Amino acid sequence: MVLEKLIRCSEMADIYDKVAAGQRIGDDDALRLYRSRDLTTLGAIADIVRERKNGNRASYILNRYLNYSNICILSCQFCEFGKKKRNAEAFELTIEQMVERVANDLRLGITEVHIVGGLHPSLPFSYYTDMIRALKALDPNLHIKAFTAVELYHFASLTKKPLAEILAVLRDAGLDSITGGGAEIFSQRVRDILCKGKETADEYLACHRAWHRMGMRSTCTMLYGHIETLEDRVDHLRRLRELQDETHGFTSFVPLHFVPDKTKLAHITPASGFDDLRNLAIARIYLDNFDHITGYWIALGMKLAQVSLSFGVDDLHGTIMEERIFEMAGGSGGQQQTREQLERAILDAGRIPVQRDSLFRPIKVSEAGAEPVQEVTA
Ligand code: SF4
Repeated sequence: MVLEKLIRCSEMADIYDKVAAGQRIGDDDALRLYRSRDLTTLGAIADIVRERKNGNRASYILNRYLNYSNICILSCQFCEFGKKKRNAEAFELTIEQMVERVANDLRLGITEVHIVGGLHPSLPFSYYTDMIRALKALDPNLHIKAFTAVELYHFASLTKKPLAEILAVLRDAGLDSITGGGAEIFSQRVRDILCKGKETADEYLACHRAWHRMGMRSTCTMLYGHIETLEDRVDHLRRLRELQDETHGFTSFVPLHFVPDKTKLAHITPASGFDDLRNLAIARIYLDNFDHITGYWIALGMKLAQVSLSFGVDDLHGTIMEERIFEMAGGSGGQQQTREQLERAILDAGRIPVQRDSLFRPIKVSEAGAEPVQEVTA
């Protein structure tokens, strides 16, 4: 009742009414939401969409990350992960090393391996297809989610083959999904400053469109909190929403908070907790054709990721196990969560934990979540 009164007095009351009526908001509405300081109303609007799409459930996945190499021919300003070949921190895993790591984690129950790397100058394309076949041979049910759009264009350039052919060969080798990384911010002005040489927004979207047209799925991201404007963020969301209208191939949107600490952009003040929640909530409201919004705890930290469950988020990503990209940039969110920690965070936020697969199909609904919430007494 109090919240209802607050919303009625809010500058966003008309947007609340629009969303409550199931209508799509426009770019101007999204900009107004970004410019508002009324996080309470924003969270309430996002919650309408979250609940409509996912009820009281919040999901997580048992997964592990794997970086085959950090050697990269590009030098993106926001990246501390990519290294030149002679750098002391450069690494390159053999397929046998990858198989050994994943085999260990399969025993712990992972259902997905998430693989990305730098744009390696000399590994042959057969390294990537052999890698996928070897991992798939461990367990045909293991979901292999791998490669960003820019890596896929790199393979096309190395082999001088069309991107569509590269995607088809990788799919036939056992690739189940491509990752959403590399989207950064779509604005070419920002890309020219921060990541010259990287694929353009149109190329990123064309790669995901081609993958979706093959009947496959992917996630998508946005790297925010650096030199982009609020208009750039809305433009980014608009382009993702348009592609989703066309293909319905994205499973989830995963906003990534930029960690500047050890990068060439260390002078930038990172996005605040307010901005993180605002960005997630606006994504939930604007991306009305996305079923899921993921709170990436690696970047947010587990506590804020938990709070984000009240700001439009319905998915806390996964156990992850070995994250290096945010860690090397100076991130302090951690590298691993257990199933119990993820379930506890979801339960404490008043949601029912659901272990999901890579396509967001439920694997296990927590029985604890079905119990009435216990009153906490002093
Ligand atoms: S963000 Fe990716 S492409 Fe850019 S330098 Fe880092 S690893 Fe290389």
